[in-house]
Amino acid sequence: MSGETNPFESLQEQIDDASAHLDVDTDVIERLKNPERVLETNLTFELDDGSLETIRAYRSQFNGDRGPYKGGIRYHPAVSRDEVKALSGWMVYKCAVVDIPYGGGKGGIVVDPTDYSEEELERLTRAFAKELRPLIGEDRDIPAPDVNTGQREMNWIKDTYETLENTTAPGVITGKALDSGGSEGRVEATGRSTALAARETFDWLGDSIEGKTVAVQGYGNAGSVTAYLLGDLGAEVVAVSDSSGGIHDPHGLDARAVKRHKAETGSVSGYGDCEALTNEELLTLDVDLLVPAALENAIDADLATEVKADVIAEAANGPLTPDADDVLADRDVWIVPDIFANSGGVTVSYFEWVQNRQRFHWTEERVNEELERVITESFDGIVDAYETHDLPNLRTAAYVVAIERVADAYEQAGNWP
Ligand code: NAD
Repeated sequence: MSGETNPFESLQEQIDDASAHLDVDTDVIERLKNPERVLETNLTFELDDGSLETIRAYRSQFNGDRGPYKGGIRYHPAVSRDEVKALSGWMVYKCAVVDIPYGGGKGGIVVDPTDYSEEELERLTRAFAKELRPLIGEDRDIPAPDVNTGQREMNWIKDTYETLENTTAPGVITGKALDSGGSEGRVEATGRSTALAARETFDWLGDSIEGKTVAVQGYGNAGSVTAYLLGDLGAEVVAVSDSSGGIHDPHGLDARAVKRHKAETGSVSGYGDCEALTNEELLTLDVDLLVPAALENAIDADLATEVKADVIAEAANGPLTPDADDVLADRDVWIVPDIFANSGGVTVSYFEWVQNRQRFHWTEERVNEELERVITESFDGIVDAYETHDLPNLRTAAYVVAIERVADAYEQAGNWP
């Protein structure tokens, strides 16, 4: 993993690459490369022994031209201002490429949640929600889960906001538990879109996902669901990993059983009779499809020269450095870009928000059908841009589609004097 590539610079480079193919003013592009505002705050909360601790947190509101800011909240020791800015920008273009009416935002707390009790994490989360309160709202900025956060944290944030505002506003946050206003299908949505995006890509290449061998790096929400849904589509998952290392079985893994093993033991390691392998070995395994589903910069230019997969579907945000992108393009490896592949999470978050606003509950079947429609139609749009403009790769095509939509919304809004 390259620790040196700044994800915010990667985002800006991706926008520059696409802008070269677009007829949008350079001053508008400059606006689209930088966040509108970033909250940096120091959260003080009480530990179980009665002492106080202060921890840094951020919320970046990157762009709201197409609708309320939207994006997750990450709990991780490597969270930084630039990481949050990058992630919030990727949200803007993700929402635009699948044409849902949101801008982009992202938040994070610089914390390793495994160091704290549940009660401490609740106090920390509520302290963050109190700081976020003036910024967020159903029509303003709508957070969601990301790395190391899930339904529990979303429920706490919703409750803090509603209590302080003396109202009910379930649409202030998405990724909630079902009984707290969550949507059917939300937990599986990111993995579902990644699996569908991979299927569409193999189909478009005149091939099929059936029988393809797969390696998945990262076995949390995004990775584990992608793995078992790819299995349902007929692919064969042969290797998976998490932060403790990887496992490999050339005859195929039961991805749901591995998920249960991780839930019971805390890691994928030790499952069945699998051979152990490092994350680097997993990323360079001879498979048809590689799914990075952990963190940014998992594959740098050096590692990219060793990748053997034909297709990489980015479940994680920003898993390839721009240099790795170039190396892989030269080697004719197809990249299914993050802003499209993992867009199922925000798409079903949007469905959750729509249901919250309507005070109505959709069936899981309806959620999954609508998601599949969004993914297949968006893929057609990306391919159309790729072919019509003769673009170098699918990532640039996705950005071309997305930037054009955001720039149009900005220009149509006109200017304040
Ligand atoms: P998660 O916390 O549920 O899982 C993260 C997984 O990555 C864990 O299994 C962890 O052990 C593993 N991991 C961490 N560092 C690793 C390393 N160096 N090597 C191998 N594995 C490592 O998080 P998640 O929600 O699944 O998010 C994963 C990625 O997907 C992130 O980039 C996130 O931004 C992106 N994403 C998530 C969603 C969502 O809805 N959850 C939506 C869009 C994008």
